[in-house]
Amino acid sequence: MDAVIPFFEQVNRHFDKAARLTKYPPGLLSQIKECNSVFHAAFPVKRDDGSIEVMHAWRAEHSTHKLPVKGGIRYAPHVSEDEVMALAAMMTYKCALVNVPFGGAKGAVRLDRTLYSDAEIERITRRFTYELVCKNYIGPGIDVPAPDYGTGAREMSWIVDTFTALTKDPLDAAGCVTGKPLPLGGIRGRTEATGRGVFYGVREALKDAVVQKTTGLDAGVEGKTVVVQGLGNVGYYAARFLQDAGARLTALAEREGAIQSDRGLDLEAVIAHRKQTGSILDFPGARNLPATEAALELECDVLVPAALENQITIANADRIRARIIAEAANGPVTADAAERLLARRIVMIPDIFLNSGGVTVSYFEWVKNLSHVRFGRMDKRHEETSNLRILRAVEELTGQRVDAQRLATAVAGAGEAELVDSGLEDTMIAAWAEIGEARARYDSDLRTAAYLISIEKVAQSYVDRGIFP
Ligand code: NAD
Repeated sequence: MDAVIPFFEQVNRHFDKAARLTKYPPGLLSQIKECNSVFHAAFPVKRDDGSIEVMHAWRAEHSTHKLPVKGGIRYAPHVSEDEVMALAAMMTYKCALVNVPFGGAKGAVRLDRTLYSDAEIERITRRFTYELVCKNYIGPGIDVPAPDYGTGAREMSWIVDTFTALTKDPLDAAGCVTGKPLPLGGIRGRTEATGRGVFYGVREALKDAVVQKTTGLDAGVEGKTVVVQGLGNVGYYAARFLQDAGARLTALAEREGAIQSDRGLDLEAVIAHRKQTGSILDFPGARNLPATEAALELECDVLVPAALENQITIANADRIRARIIAEAANGPVTADAAERLLARRIVMIPDIFLNSGGVTVSYFEWVKNLSHVRFGRMDKRHEETSNLRILRAVEELTGQRVDAQRLATAVAGAGEAELVDSGLEDTMIAAWAEIGEARARYDSDLRTAAYLISIEKVAQSYVDRGIFP
């Protein structure tokens, strides 16, 4: 019955498994593991019918070993303090793993989005921001939220607007939150960043010799069968990039149910069908599955749970038939289920690595906000001119002319979108390589290797500051 084990305890189990392999003193390891502070707000919001409802919201700052702390804000009906602490802890380990210089945090408002109008969501978001400002739980150098389950660019724009109105020093106010719309200081590529990172992570895993030996799969995304649970921000973009690279989406699952087709589902057509009918079910040419959860148990090469935590538990772990579980959501596999799956030689690409694309590009956005200049603005033209000079020299030497179309592609300088994408890809490749080295060094599984790297980096930051010997 591992599904009832508190989420934070599950994260700590992963931590403890890795921490046992380190030589750091128990006091230091406890300091890293604990959640530094949690703010619980209960505030009134006027509903559209004039009634008042008390909302419950949290912001947990798990580790302030680096500032600001960073982590999304989710709107979901069953969130709890424990869940927010668990997710904040994962942010600490995620940031450390991919060398993003932030501590870990997470926030949440307990609500079911479908029961509130847009105007009510706006009032809730602005009031929560006010609460965070009053308690010093938000600010470009303190704590920087981002989108998560149930929130997106629109909520981030209300947060930055409210924060800017309240702050006495608005110069860097745009850096108080990431995932903003472009005109409010957002960055190109943030919306799709987590899903794109999931794609890079899966691609790297498939190239890995140990993964290949364990799963019997060959390198390359092309031709792989993929099942995706959750078609929100992360799931949709992960599915899209995997499909664009030639993977076959054999099943898709959403809240209302799941659909399957061995021939493969056209993602955009499914999304259009859902927009039109309100459901992914009854998609032409596909089979409806009896329940959303049934999709998790289908045979496939890569299963991408991209909805919420605790989807694969002891109750269904033995029925999972995927070769790889790509943990796009946070905590989709419980700690006990993970042990069961490891014993069955099912490869889990750990969440703290796989969905780190979001925070990586959030970091780029924050840097952009603080530097007040768009990436590529100063060097794009210079790069193009240099490329053109080199190409002209080659033409002169060879006596051959490059046609206009090829020339344009060859000399093009990198703008913000290209730089963000290349920074994200590089980050995912480097982190995967680091995990691979740790896995070999400690003879461990991938998750333990990822946690080990994070623990070592956070521990070292305490040691460097002379806080622990
Ligand atoms: P989202 O709200 O955009 O999408 C979640 C989707 O899952 C929704 O479409 C929802 O209807 C669907 N869903 C809910 N319950 C389901 C179920 N039982 N079966 C199938 N589908 C279900 O949220 P998101 O931002 O995509 O976040 C998804 C997960 O990814 C969360 O665990 C979140 O913490 C994690 N994550 C998100 C980001 C980000 O940048 N948004 C970054 C890192 C991690």
